[in-house]
Amino acid sequence: MGYQLDNFVFGHTWATDLLARAIAAGKLSQSVLITGMPQLGKTTLARTVAMAINCTAPEKPCGHCAACTKILDGNHPDVRILDDDDALKIEEVRTLQHDLSLTPHESLQKIAILANFDRATTGAANALLKTLEEPPAHAMLLLTARSTEHLLPTIVSRCQNIHLRPVSTDAIAEMLQQQWHVPAATATHLSHLSTGRPGWAVQAFRNPEVLEQRTAWLTDMTTALTGGAVARLAFAEQLAKQSFSPSAILDLWLSWWRDVLLAHNQTAAHLVNVDMEDTIRRAAQNLSQAQIVAAIAELKTTLQNFDYNVNRRLNFETLLLKLPPLKP
Ligand SMILES: [Zn+2]
Repeated sequence: MGYQLDNFVFGHTWATDLLARAIAAGKLSQSVLITGMPQLGKTTLARTVAMAINCTAPEKPCGHCAACTKILDGNHPDVRILDDDDALKIEEVRTLQHDLSLTPHESLQKIAILANFDRATTGAANALLKTLEEPPAHAMLLLTARSTEHLLPTIVSRCQNIHLRPVSTDAIAEMLQQQWHVPAATATHLSHLSTGRPGWAVQAFRNPEVLEQRTAWLTDMTTALTGGAVARLAFAEQLAKQSFSPSAILDLWLSWWRDVLLAHNQTAAHLVNVDMEDTIRRAAQNLSQAQIVAAIAELKTTLQNFDYNVNRRLNFETLLLKLPPLKP
């Protein structure tokens, strides 16, 4: 009987090995917090842990026994997955706590996966703290978050912390070719644009709209920044109406501004957004180091503000008004 988690989780071998050993030894913590950027595979890792614990095959998780299938489909009675984009509310935590207190139906444990726990309201986070302090003997909690920064320190300290780092672009390119039969040139291109996020790379390959959306967000940003306040506010209003996660947009813009900083300092820099090289180099020439650094800091502040549930439109407006002007 063995545990092998890396058949289901790509690119985080040290984490899958660590968790597989802990499960095999019966020493996995009842509360685990997985952190890292969006689309690195945090929820996939949490779901794979739940499968490994419940799987009935000799080599766990198998991915096709009844337990694994139910977890993959999201309908295992003892595995709750809360992964909406909306703020996690105290009522939802209370319902979950009630469920965790009941005897499991089909397995020995009740598992709850709380994805993007940074979206929890303070009330919800405080309510969950009680369960983390004294979990029912048969309960296990798997939390994911972008970072530990915006979580209550008491939540972080009660959990075993697993931090996932970006995966190398070479490894992502290889995975795209082997698992998804992506042609080599496309695989290399997508792996660079992914900034180390395997989930993004696969999504971009499977759904061409992801790439179109990416291009639109970048070109619309540069266009808005060549304009004055009116153009910028109009763009903020347009972004506020979209249902996309703000971090999808802001992480992309961050990668663009980091490219500008790189190009400003090293002319031969290897850029992430290679298809935008002309606009990036033009901005690098026309802006000062201080302006570029300030823009990056502003984007990071905006990302944090979204964690604190600041009004979407106001947050985009403030950011766009503060970013430096670009020459058309
Ligand atoms: Zn299985």
